[in-house]
Amino acid sequence: MLPKRFCVKCGIEESEDNPIIDGLCLNCLLKERKIVEIPSIIKVNYCKVCGAVQLHGKWTEPLDFDSAVIRVIESYLEKPRGLYSYVEKPYVSNIEFLTKSSWNTHVRVEISAFIASRKVSQKYDVVIRLNPTICPRCIMRRSGDYTVLVQLRAPKNLLRDFRQFIKVAEKHIPEEVALNIVDIIDKGNNVDILFYEKGAANKFVSILKHFGNFKERRSFEEVGIDRHGKKRRRTVISLHFIKE
Ligand SMILES: [Zn+2]
Ligand SMILES: [Zn+2]
Repeated sequence: MLPKRFCVKCGIEESEDNPIIDGLCLNCLLKERKIVEIPSIIKVNYCKVCGAVQLHGKWTEPLDFDSAVIRVIESYLEKPRGLYSYVEKPYVSNIEFLTKSSWNTHVRVEISAFIASRKVSQKYDVVIRLNPTICPRCIMRRSGDYTVLVQLRAPKNLLRDFRQFIKVAEKHIPEEVALNIVDIIDKGNNVDILFYEKGAANKFVSILKHFGNFKERRSFEEVGIDRHGKKRRRTVISLHFIKE
């Protein structure tokens, strides 16, 4: 038989429920040591105009404080780093708000993991700090600037069909595409839609082409120099509505 081991902290003898790891019993280990690395403050940019949050460089859709805080935790603590090799598969198992969500929100994050095949949990207090700023989408929207112009054109004799088509297509535009629209200038058979990003504009165009018949033409225009000294180009996508 192997000699029994004892916890150096509380002196308890090793048992099935309370194994000894690194000289400590599991209960003492969880009291004595942090098992994962969790920052005490997580600071992210939050758009004070629309409520978008910048996560790892990417801006989300508009979110209220509660949802923003949860998204920050999910995004930054999704896979916390175990501090010891015996800490396996740590993950966020619960989030408790200690204060009302606002620019600074105190939360208690419960991390669960496995140590020696037993499921364990530990709680960590974290401050989620939302840094008030204005997202690039809102900056563009405010200045009326855009990257892609989609021009919808219909001949006068197809005006009714065209407006009918718009009604149908509108319902199929996903939120992330709609959020990307800087402005819409609607003049009946002439509709201009201004986009902040190319990807969203392309998605928009493919949805329109799915529901209607269009002749497409793309062109580019130079629009000065951006702040990195690079030439800025704007894409103009002309879609001419045609009968089948
Ligand atoms: Zn102990
Ligand atoms: Zn914004």
